[in-house]
Amino acid sequence: MSPVALADRAEQMRESPSVAAAQRVRELRAAGREILDLTVGEPDFDTPDHVKAAAIAAMAAGLTKYTAVNGIPELRRAIMARILDRTGITVGDSEITVGGGAKQVIFMALMATINNGDQVIVPSPYWVSYPDMVALHGGTPIVVECPESDRFLLTAAKLAAAITPATRWVILNGPSNPTGAVYSAEELAALATVLERHPHVSVLCDEIYDEIVFTDRRTPSLLSVAPHLRDQILVVNGVSKAYAMTGWRLGYGVGHPRLIAAINKLQSQSSSCPSSISQAAAAAAISGDQTFVTESIASYRARRDLIFDLLADVDGLTPVRPQGAFYLFIGCAGLLGKRTPDGRMLRDDQDVVLYLLETASVATIQGSAYGAPSYLRVSFATSTDVLRTAAAEIAKAVAALS
Ligand code: PLP
Repeated sequence: MSPVALADRAEQMRESPSVAAAQRVRELRAAGREILDLTVGEPDFDTPDHVKAAAIAAMAAGLTKYTAVNGIPELRRAIMARILDRTGITVGDSEITVGGGAKQVIFMALMATINNGDQVIVPSPYWVSYPDMVALHGGTPIVVECPESDRFLLTAAKLAAAITPATRWVILNGPSNPTGAVYSAEELAALATVLERHPHVSVLCDEIYDEIVFTDRRTPSLLSVAPHLRDQILVVNGVSKAYAMTGWRLGYGVGHPRLIAAINKLQSQSSSCPSSISQAAAAAAISGDQTFVTESIASYRARRDLIFDLLADVDGLTPVRPQGAFYLFIGCAGLLGKRTPDGRMLRDDQDVVLYLLETASVATIQGSAYGAPSYLRVSFATSTDVLRTAAAEIAKAVAALS
């Protein structure tokens, strides 16, 4: 028996599949293989200089101590201004919490609200962490399949059918990781009509990719489409994706004061507050010059079009053009049942991922990790050279199947 006894929850927890994929790439590279990595869930850009400068200035000014649990006033003001600009809604101090990334805010929100047996509606394809976080806190993830024919989005009818007296939350993520799908204002309004009838159901709107959209208009937020549901909505966002700040670990939540107070209490007993320096940097990112965001979106858009066009030409792959985020979700059902040159049959998306890794040296992630078997996720937050080479290698490997 191992000398280290673990709690049941730790025994049951799975490692994040995207973290596992990144680890596999690191191991192969350490073994001397050249891998084209399309698994990465973060911008390939560096954090903008003015944001770094704000962090350096904060350190120089001695902002190196614990802060208030709900963050420094500059950050809260920046968040308030952004919410007002995006939704037309004025929020106060008591409605804002800050944490070590959007991930930690979601974790704490679920921890603060889920009792054993509570249900959380998770539309699939979903971000890998939602079901595990729900289960970790004793809840039951109710996975609702949202097929490609529904643009991978939750419909009002499916939401209505999934709600029970035990439903505590529904999680909406747009632009979505992994599909890049975005809810329109009309689709959100239809969901809101269902939610109005079920005030016991809260909505966690994960808007971490809301800046990264390729349509001409901004992504609508449920908060602006249905302000009367404000008490039921928790908006989660952060600086990781829009400002290339994944390592700074800074996210925030905006919601009902009672929920925010509970999250803050958890924060006070776990990490006390996010890094003071990251808070100063995030305040500068959110309230400062937004040129970086505009320029990076233009770059992501060009790369999306490049990788989409290249892979759409590969027989057996059916990419779905994303409206936002930096992932391409690709149907691979056309490859299943085919045989590799050494005679192995590709039975599922995991087999396809392994085949592409072994034969094309391209790392992708299987759709089943996101609750959508027969798909692959590739990230296009990488250089056009890598994208071109990876697409050519994938095409070659696919052509070798019989
Ligand atoms: N939500 C989604 C949908 C994500 O894809 C990610 C990161 O991959 C996060 C939340 C976490 O973001 P953060 O870096 O702010 O914790």
